[in-house]
Amino acid sequence: MIIGLTGGIGSGKTTVANMFVKLGIDIVDADVVARQVVEPGTKGLAEIVDHFGESILADDGTLDRAQLRSKVFSDETAKAWLNQLLHPLIREEIFAQLARAKSRYKILVAPLLIENGLTEQVARILVIDVTKDQQIERTLKRDGSSPDIINNIIAAQVSREERLSKADDIINNTSPSLLEVEQQVKALHQQYLLMATKA
Ligand code: ADP
Repeated sequence: MIIGLTGGIGSGKTTVANMFVKLGIDIVDADVVARQVVEPGTKGLAEIVDHFGESILADDGTLDRAQLRSKVFSDETAKAWLNQLLHPLIREEIFAQLARAKSRYKILVAPLLIENGLTEQVARILVIDVTKDQQIERTLKRDGSSPDIINNIIAAQVSREERLSKADDIINNTSPSLLEVEQQVKALHQQYLLMATKA
């Protein structure tokens, strides 16, 4: 059984995922996979170098992500090309890692679970919910980036309402007490263990 854990930037996905890890649950993080498929030696990176040239690499041979981002930012064709390369690679690697995971149920952490159409592949959608103000405040505190950048990222993600409308389960992370969050995680964990046994 795969649980899809999602939420907007700064909603607390990583915080909540770590609580499930403490309970022995295996996690696959789509953001981590997105970096793994372009690590040195991968087919993904080789194709990117073929397409954009060696200058897309940093001095140490890794992908210069900032440069790639700026290249595709204003070039729809380049962006479409990159997406058609990366999306299948990421999807394949996500499900390969999930297949190897051994816990009684598994969690796929994906900020864009809904946006990228991954909802069909998971048994339940778990949404981490906070207010927009809290998203901005907590992301600012974590990353120190500007409110404008954070607002742009929030605008490119589905709205809080739409996300909640797709949820099977919701963790309310509006409280500053992580103990309260942990209690919600433990209750869901029991529920998921039962479901996994019946499935
Ligand atoms: P995401 O992975 O969804 O982007 P994080 O788990 O990194 O979000 O959380 C964003 C920031 O907010 C982190 O610095 C985290 O420590 C903090 N945070 C998470 N939950 C809470 C909470 N309930 N109260 C206060 N800060 C929180």
